[in-house]
Amino acid sequence: MCGIVGIVSNSNISDRLFRCIKNLEYRGYDSCGLAMLTPSGIEVRKNVGSVDDVNAVEHLTEPQGSTGLAHTRWATHGGVTQINSHPHLSGDGAFAVIHNGIISNYRELKEELSASGHTFVSQTDTEVIPHVLQDEFEKEQDVERAMFKTFKRLKGTYAFAFVTTHAPRQIFCARKESPLVLGIGQNSTFLASDINSFIEYTRDIVILNDDEYAIISDDTYAIKHVQTGERINRKVQHITWSAAAAQKGGFPTFMLKEIHEQPGTVKTALNIPQEEITTLARMIHDSERTYLVGVGTTYYVSLTAHYYFAQLAGKFLPVVSSDEFEYSAEVNERTLFLCCSQSGETYDTLKALRFAKKRGAKSAAVVNVVGSSISREVDHAIMQSSGPEICVLSTKAAISQMVVLLRTALEVGRLNDTLSEEQYQTHQHELQQLPDGIQWVLNRRLSRIQEIANAHAPIKNWLFLGRGVYMAIGMEAALKMKEVTYQHAEGMAGGFMKHGTISLIDKEMFTQVFVPPASQTDLYESTMSNVEEVKARGGFVVGFHFGASDPKFNAEVIFPDVPPLIAPLLQLVGGQLFAYYSAVKLGRNIDKPRSLAKSVTVA
Ligand code: GLU
Repeated sequence: MCGIVGIVSNSNISDRLFRCIKNLEYRGYDSCGLAMLTPSGIEVRKNVGSVDDVNAVEHLTEPQGSTGLAHTRWATHGGVTQINSHPHLSGDGAFAVIHNGIISNYRELKEELSASGHTFVSQTDTEVIPHVLQDEFEKEQDVERAMFKTFKRLKGTYAFAFVTTHAPRQIFCARKESPLVLGIGQNSTFLASDINSFIEYTRDIVILNDDEYAIISDDTYAIKHVQTGERINRKVQHITWSAAAAQKGGFPTFMLKEIHEQPGTVKTALNIPQEEITTLARMIHDSERTYLVGVGTTYYVSLTAHYYFAQLAGKFLPVVSSDEFEYSAEVNERTLFLCCSQSGETYDTLKALRFAKKRGAKSAAVVNVVGSSISREVDHAIMQSSGPEICVLSTKAAISQMVVLLRTALEVGRLNDTLSEEQYQTHQHELQQLPDGIQWVLNRRLSRIQEIANAHAPIKNWLFLGRGVYMAIGMEAALKMKEVTYQHAEGMAGGFMKHGTISLIDKEMFTQVFVPPASQTDLYESTMSNVEEVKARGGFVVGFHFGASDPKFNAEVIFPDVPPLIAPLLQLVGGQLFAYYSAVKLGRNIDKPRSLAKSVTVA
């Protein structure tokens, strides 16, 4: 997730460009760079580090001009180096491109273009864009037509923008699944990933939708459709947010913003190249034993994956909390250590990893932060590219890790023939429905969940019950609840509850039950028996379930009818929202709950 910005004006933009990119730093801080159109061509300055670090070395406000672009990077392809920083130039230096997203067919394009004489200098996927533009411009001799042809050759997700010496008073940009918004100022037009970038200069905005491109100049803009080239008329909106609110994209907190980003981050996780997943699947397949390791939320991510591996690949993968790993795990050269970490710096997980490596284990990880210790130290790192997660509680990063591991479980199932080709394809198809399913929950169930949370926020003790993978989801939902509300919530298997904890149930102890779809008959029926057991003792039951309204629950949230494979993940989003709105009602410090830190790097 990078930050992109562009300005065309009738006067010098260097200070404005700097301020605009500074405001987008939260979207990526691996490196920063700019491209300014000057009378002698395109001047590019870029380097690694934060905007201020790069400015100290590169003096970003020095290049003077009235058409320019700037970028902050959150690397996905290619290490954090000066060469890999954006903007990227075409071979002839006539196009400079900044990009947010992933060009999934970049390898094929690189090969194709190299064969026709193009030379690439970076390891990024992005660099193919200026080269394709140059290639198309040579044939078309028209920038817009070259851009139009370029769309047809690019696969993947993007918001990109470019400047070119062939049209020095314009900026061209396009959007497909990464945000892009225009700002309409006085004799100046802006484009950016986020309104926050230019809000101090204009509050008049035009939002671009997916598959649209725009051409902006200092006093006009045109929006067109990527497939048809047809002109789109869209009204300017005037926004009244403060700059601080805009950084949160209009959401009151980062937690709510990040919960809402999940359809996008899940899509990104689904688009991680198949080779990376297959490599991990082979490592699991070839190991004698694979440990799933994590701590806090990533422990529950691992526990969720544990059930997916059992169900889809017939494999038992022990789950061990990172902090307990060295006291309990048996490790040798045939062991695979597989961990998840948002920051890639989690102390307990890093320590467990080093312990395992010392004993000869192979290692792999799903990590969000590029260049982090865990991502560098494992044999195989899958970068989940969920973008910066600013709220201390993990939401979007956790669900993406679950998706990566679910994809891996499918692949292992295929490798060891637990799944037939047909079952494998069906599950792949079901998985593709997840982003829309999450979006549905956000659109259609948010207010119901808020209502229940408001009504029961003062409840001090909760039991979150589920069975199988729903137990893992219930435990993660309970952790969210504890972290952000400071109320006690205990996640537990429905079957386990009877063996002790049931004695706590009374009118004060509320229960939330994560019920699977009725089509999973055994699981459904045994979960519903737990509902009866709680109610028989005067307990209040909130049911997260699928299907028709059921009077057995004292309060209910009905989830959409989706394939059982993805159903638990929708309830997880429900659990995040429940914790969130309970905390709002209690007036908690949501993005920075007491005593917690984003990345726990101490013992
Ligand atoms: N794929 C591009 C890179 O790594 C852009 C990354 C992003 O948008 O997160 O440079």
